Amino acid sequence: MPETLLINEVYLSLQGESTFAGLPCVFVRLTACNLRCSYCDTAYAFTEGRKWALSEVRAEVLRLSEPYFQTERSLTSVQIIAGTDTARHRLPLVEFTGGEPLLQPNAGRIMGQLADDGFTVLVETSGAHSISKLDPRIRRIMDLKCPGSGEVSRNRWENIQHLKSTDEVKFVIGSWEDYAWAKETIAKYQLDRICPLLFSWVAPLLAHQKDPSLKAIPEGHRPIRRQELVEAMIADHVLARFQLQMHKFIWPPDERGV
Ligand code: SF4
Repeated sequence: MPETLLINEVYLSLQGESTFAGLPCVFVRLTACNLRCSYCDTAYAFTEGRKWALSEVRAEVLRLSEPYFQTERSLTSVQIIAGTDTARHRLPLVEFTGGEPLLQPNAGRIMGQLADDGFTVLVETSGAHSISKLDPRIRRIMDLKCPGSGEVSRNRWENIQHLKSTDEVKFVIGSWEDYAWAKETIAKYQLDRICPLLFSWVAPLLAHQKDPSLKAIPEGHRPIRRQELVEAMIADHVLARFQLQMHKFIWPPDERGV
């Protein structure tokens, strides 16, 4: 297998979602996704990109992270408490995102190499691919696609048995129907006993972000405002972390490379 990956962009920014939100992070955004979620804000990564050698990816991650290691603070790490997991992490983090990182078999290899380098490596995955073969050091942030995504049938339920306390499950919620579905799913699989759970509110797409190939929101779905979602979570005592996509509040919501 050629030692390459099709990559859309590699950049240094802040981790904007998950229990690691707000920390410096080198992002590796891979090209291509086989889903078409109704709310997808990275449709540009469906096709745009170029081949990188794995060695080139590692070199770029090291280049972007090097300034953090040039001072006496080089051995500094931060403590993260994520659900049942307490651990120290060297910064910056490295996150593989997309598109869908697990579509490319070589992604797992470079993630393992970067874990060998001492990085805390995160991967954002749609939940439509098996997570069972990934290096156990990699922290999986796995979606369970809600009905409003238009892709609920793509969830690989067998992934649940492979989740660890260091992983995170994300529900992207845009409607009252998604919210009810997420609560039922948590109860059915007792997900709150496995790992941290994230409820991510769907930020509306700007007109130019709406790729024509995206799935339609199912008929009859009633949009939920973010305040309504938070208030419902409090009222229902939901054991999950509410989150907004932090980068969309810091930069314009369609800004790339942040
Ligand atoms: S899985 Fe992620 S990248 Fe793929 S269409 Fe859905 S939101 Fe977009």
